Amino acid sequence: MSRSDLPALTIADLQSLLRRKEVSPREVLESLRARIEQVEPKIEAYLSIDFEAALKEADKVDVNLPLGGVPIAIKDIINVAGQPCTCGSKILAGYRSPYDATVINNLRAAGAIPFGKTNMDEFAMGSSTENSSIKVTKNPWDLSRVPGGSSGGSAAAVAANAAFGALGTDTGGSIRQPASLSGLVGLKPSYGRVSRFGVIAFASSLDQVGPLTKTTRDAAMIMSAIAGQDRHDSTSLPEPVPDYTKNLGRDLKGIKLGVPKEYRVEGIHPQISAAVNAAVKQLESLGAEMVHLSLPHTDYGIAVYYFIATAEASANLARFDGVRYGYRAKDPKDLLDHYGRTREEGFGEEVKRRIILGTYVLSSGYYDAYYVRAQKVRELIRQDFVKAFEKCDAIISPTSPEPAFKLGERTANPLAMYLADIFTNTANLAGICGISVPCGFAKENGSQLPIGLQILGKSLNEARILQIAHAYEQSTDWHRARSPIAKL
Ligand code: GLN
Repeated sequence: MSRSDLPALTIADLQSLLRRKEVSPREVLESLRARIEQVEPKIEAYLSIDFEAALKEADKVDVNLPLGGVPIAIKDIINVAGQPCTCGSKILAGYRSPYDATVINNLRAAGAIPFGKTNMDEFAMGSSTENSSIKVTKNPWDLSRVPGGSSGGSAAAVAANAAFGALGTDTGGSIRQPASLSGLVGLKPSYGRVSRFGVIAFASSLDQVGPLTKTTRDAAMIMSAIAGQDRHDSTSLPEPVPDYTKNLGRDLKGIKLGVPKEYRVEGIHPQISAAVNAAVKQLESLGAEMVHLSLPHTDYGIAVYYFIATAEASANLARFDGVRYGYRAKDPKDLLDHYGRTREEGFGEEVKRRIILGTYVLSSGYYDAYYVRAQKVRELIRQDFVKAFEKCDAIISPTSPEPAFKLGERTANPLAMYLADIFTNTANLAGICGISVPCGFAKENGSQLPIGLQILGKSLNEARILQIAHAYEQSTDWHRARSPIAKL
């Protein structure tokens, strides 16, 4: 194989070449660098890259480790020591991370090399990556369309073969939706499965870190490295971390899959319904049994999510005051002018909208009517899933109600953008895990646009949803299709 073909490999294939010493970690990084130079002007997925630091690590890494010598791209919301961390915001301009997040420590301990930071919606608020205040990332399947968001830089990089795999974060769908729109596998772990220490907080009761990859096996490999309890994150769970690759290859005999009636909603793109229906048949042919069930509070998901996520964001983002890090307004008159103008000038529109909304739902007089009531409905949504999982092992649905939309098409209408999360954000509200796996294409004006199948599992049941996703993936060819940019 020629060196220039390396970036097309899966992590699993790359790691076996590295382990057999057929290629060195340095050669892998050099080939990736050439590849990024070739496609980055088209997709604009990266915010910063430090190849010099990465090459130093490559020269001393142990290739026998599970991810030994594998470069991984990192969403720019996760701190990597010595690197910028902008969160796609002007307010963090000039900030450099003083330490590694626990997920980065864990990746390094497994031999992976975090080499670059990817673009995102500012503070992870959005579904298209257009809310980045730094650049606009394009979908490698069609450069006039969004890659999804908020982890759109991570998705575009992997879908263009400009990263072997990437980390994203998912608060309401930000790993699964961009994976779906970019033809990738994206896994949102259960709440508490992966440490958030060193990950800049958006909504602390919803945020999780997880992988975006070309295959389910690659996602399992990254999960095995990053998951686990962390004494720096009191919300991380103590349960031991299984080897997530272990269940891969097991068949689906006796597996029960729930098909919720609420997920057959109006307005869902017809080619997506068709692809998901075909995936249901395919899963049945593999031995899975379909169970029809109901998640009666699904309709409230978007409203509840946007109350809770904005409330938590308004508190979390209070720390960006121009005193401690990043951007600082020039020549303030006094302290209040300093705070006010730093935040006015440093935050983008969507972030300000959410801070205002979140402050409102927490304000006295409205707190009970909005925030407390949202928490009560959140509990009903969680109970829906508890009851559903008494009848099935996992639940299936589309990941996104539509394929990748055109750049600029939704930016004027925040509510239309919020609807991108209808199938994803209830999993965050309930704390359960979910994966998106490619299940077909929508054809629009000559473009082939990927479609994702979402598989939701009980809390801490990542191994089970990976097994189901893997069995499905291996029985289809969808994951082998590559974007036009990946073929350049
Ligand atoms: N699209 C959702 C939002 O804008 C989800 C974002 C996320 O998961 N980070 O809040």
